Amino acid sequence: MFKHKLLVACLLGSLSLMAQKNYDAQVDSLMQLMTLEEKVGQMNQYNGFYDVTGPAPTGGNAAVKYEHLRKGWVGAMLSVRGVEEVHKLQKLVVEESRLGIPLLFGFDVIHGYKTLSPIPLAEAASWDLKAIEQSASIAANEASAVGLNWTFAPMVDISRDARWGRVMEGAGEDPYLGSKIATARVRGFQGSDLSAPNTIAATAKHFAAYGFVEGGIEYGIVDIGTHTLYNQVLPPFQAAVDADVKSVMNGFNLLNGVPVTGNAFLQREMLKGKMNFQGFVVSDWASTQEMVAHGFAADEKDAALKASIAGSDMEMESGTYVAHLAALVREGKVDEAVIDEAVRRILKVKFELGLFEDPYRYCDLEREKERIYHADHQAGVRDMARRSMVLLKNEGELLPLGKKQKNILVVGAMAKDKNSPLGSWRIASDDNSAVSVWEGLSAQNPYLKYIKGPEYFDPEVAFVQEVKVNEDDLSGLEEAVAAAKEADVVVLVAGEHGFQSGEARSRAEIGLPGIQPQLIRALHKANSNMVLLLFNGRPLTLSWEAENIPAILECWQPGSQAGNAVADVVFGDYNPAGKLPMTFPRNLGQVPIYYNQYNGSRPDPQPIVFWSHYMDSEKSPLFPFGYGLSYSEFAYSDLKVDASNPKAVQVEVVLENKGKRAGEEVAQLYVRDLVANQVRPIKELKGFEKVYLQAGASVLLRFTLTGRELGYFDHQYKWVVEPGEFEVMVGGNSVNVLKERFVLD
Ligand code: BGC
Repeated sequence: MFKHKLLVACLLGSLSLMAQKNYDAQVDSLMQLMTLEEKVGQMNQYNGFYDVTGPAPTGGNAAVKYEHLRKGWVGAMLSVRGVEEVHKLQKLVVEESRLGIPLLFGFDVIHGYKTLSPIPLAEAASWDLKAIEQSASIAANEASAVGLNWTFAPMVDISRDARWGRVMEGAGEDPYLGSKIATARVRGFQGSDLSAPNTIAATAKHFAAYGFVEGGIEYGIVDIGTHTLYNQVLPPFQAAVDADVKSVMNGFNLLNGVPVTGNAFLQREMLKGKMNFQGFVVSDWASTQEMVAHGFAADEKDAALKASIAGSDMEMESGTYVAHLAALVREGKVDEAVIDEAVRRILKVKFELGLFEDPYRYCDLEREKERIYHADHQAGVRDMARRSMVLLKNEGELLPLGKKQKNILVVGAMAKDKNSPLGSWRIASDDNSAVSVWEGLSAQNPYLKYIKGPEYFDPEVAFVQEVKVNEDDLSGLEEAVAAAKEADVVVLVAGEHGFQSGEARSRAEIGLPGIQPQLIRALHKANSNMVLLLFNGRPLTLSWEAENIPAILECWQPGSQAGNAVADVVFGDYNPAGKLPMTFPRNLGQVPIYYNQYNGSRPDPQPIVFWSHYMDSEKSPLFPFGYGLSYSEFAYSDLKVDASNPKAVQVEVVLENKGKRAGEEVAQLYVRDLVANQVRPIKELKGFEKVYLQAGASVLLRFTLTGRELGYFDHQYKWVVEPGEFEVMVGGNSVNVLKERFVLD
């Protein structure tokens, strides 16, 4: 299988050691065989670049990359599609390069490969860690079947700014929920045995603080203090590291004046030091080279020097390492130990993936055919999608609708859209492959009527293009209004285009785009008995809708099984239980808005006007973090706290399903340290449990609070738990809570 005997020799004697999962000896002996250029090669990653079924490229960039592959100057590829292509590139390297070290194949498997689960923000709304882990393992199952062994997910960036398009890719605003989800996703991708042919290495990204870009503007700057960095930004990364994530990706942003890619404090002192990360750091796409644009590096050579010294182990796509690192070592500017450390980390992951045992382990044409769009995957993502939906309003119990109910009118161009519900970040999936809302709904109720109304967007838009929003063409509105007048119920399907969120998709206004506000008002005037089905990749400002439309279901972008999952909820086969992982603001002026705020010096109304408020808006959110309704009704009572053992404070609460249907509720526990040396937020999520309860049933829930939940990181990154008075809050969202106080001795 391997052309080169030296590799075989160095690895064979150690195969038995592999069972012990400690590859240090193999890595060391392999590194002794490597030239400086070959080592630097392992630190170089190229984008997939030519049709490998054709002849070898001659001339240009592709020819250079091809030559580098043959020389063993490439350690990893990204965005190569399909078993056949992966196999050929792997073969080229394994058989033609001197040492034949297998390649890593990375890909943005963000919410599935071909079969798409809901966007990650939506999944976070399920608060269902098992389902989220399962969803990542479905993604890994498909991705590994096309030859891939490494995903650039999960994105664990905390963000409080819905203008930033990449909030769709994360788990929302809260570090506690974000950490639990980071763990679940890493486990789902990596499984319990990384060398199994259906698991892949995961990447926690973007290290760090990318979600705090000022103004929500992409590729921007971040200025935050250690308080926020340590307590909000880093915890989900730590959770991923603790779950043994194999790689961490840095990013494009500046943090306090230093690009994160060239940031030794972040990558060496924190990540590889205090946080004890054992995998390797990969740069973001050309982020090393882009340090020149920042004004941090004089040129590409300087960028290679600064990034490598700062602990960035692998360079993605811009070629700065392969072009300059060996020379920098020879000139004595970069210590060879820096290279050795990076290569050691990268090779170790290759061993763990089992690539030295079988570099083609992930390449099986049969498996590719069998697993893509597998029925089990479809069932899995449908279940995930309905678990992700959040019922925002349901006045008069308008929902669920009946499967035999007549005279329901479905309105909106988006109802028949098979593309947008797939969401952003889906570079491998097939366009128009979602079950549309109309397909899903009409399959369950044959009497539905449909009218399109005005277009929302130019439907022909690709991943790399800007979405063209219809701002003024109201053709179709009159017919829709006339039809609405005749209907018993109007179901409007509205929201953002699937590519209005995602990378480089910041928005300065975050209401319903284009003509949609006009459409919704006109329909409402014609018939106020309306259900709004929302599809969006970020929190939106929906004050008018929340006040006027009786029923609103937040569907996000639900993925391949969109329409079926929507129908499950709309017709009541599934009782919605999702809770918002990000605050919905009333208006844009409130952004950034988040639940775990700090009190200012005048938080409450004062006798005169000088207190902390807006003169022209409420300060409170439209829909708070953790909010979501059900077709049942849940009630909390009898909150009790026992702090007699300060190491394990016991919290009890009774949860009752007072509704007429069985359903699930996410019971949330928040904590506040009332007086501390570093002021603590007014509440912080520190526990939750998703519980299924029959109608009329109740349950006693128990939570334990230890130092892990009651402390915080000080400015020195030291975990401190301060004795004194605390408040515990428990409820079905972050606002309506029962409260109790206790004293921690
Ligand atoms: C994104 C990363 C992504 C990479 C590779 C970059 O533009 O920021 O999140 O993994 O591209 O596609």
